[in-house]
Amino acid sequence: MQKQLVLATRNKGKVQELKAMLAGYDIEVMGLDQFLNCPEVEEDQDTFEGNAIKKAQTIAEFLQVPALADDSGLEVDALQGRPGVYSARFAGVDATDEDNNRKLLELMQGVPTGERSGRFRCVLALAVPGQATATWHGTCEGKIGITPRGTGGFGYDPLFFLPIEGKTMAEFTKEEKSKISHRGMAMRKMMVEIAGLM
Ligand code: IMP
Repeated sequence: MQKQLVLATRNKGKVQELKAMLAGYDIEVMGLDQFLNCPEVEEDQDTFEGNAIKKAQTIAEFLQVPALADDSGLEVDALQGRPGVYSARFAGVDATDEDNNRKLLELMQGVPTGERSGRFRCVLALAVPGQATATWHGTCEGKIGITPRGTGGFGYDPLFFLPIEGKTMAEFTKEEKSKISHRGMAMRKMMVEIAGLM
């Protein structure tokens, strides 16, 4: 029987990227939109790992199906690691990606190029009912741009500049992004182990 996996996220950008990365495997990947009454999970932990585990376990327990959660965000050195776990709600509870990017640019005004370093971080958690939850980590180093560039990706991608490539994350295709991104790195680590876990 084909293995089933629910993606424990309502973030459309993450769903698109995770589905594309899992496309070549013999796994039926489902979204939360295919299920009624799934609980909303409050992201109240102070680490990416804590939030990823909480999301995956809550959904796996409720649906009794293996669940994969992604908790991720941007850490900016000049802002002492902010927005971090608050990346999605940096500019407020209902903030859009544009609101968050605007706030980031405001806070980074006047910060010189040499001090604009930061990284995306991603933790994937796989919860299988009746088993211990497993996690994998990925990071991607870059610099915060001066103005948004590109139309791909989501979130902070238009402001996340990769000096070696000379492009922002939003200027890559989905396939190119997955080769260098924090999410792609965590996913590749997970795929090495997933067969033995579900
Ligand atoms: P979460 O849903 O609490 O994990 O929040 C994730 C937030 O981090 C997103 O809403 C984005 O703002 C940001 N983020 C995570 N991954 C990416 C990415 O690949 N590109 C751009 N922004 C990202």
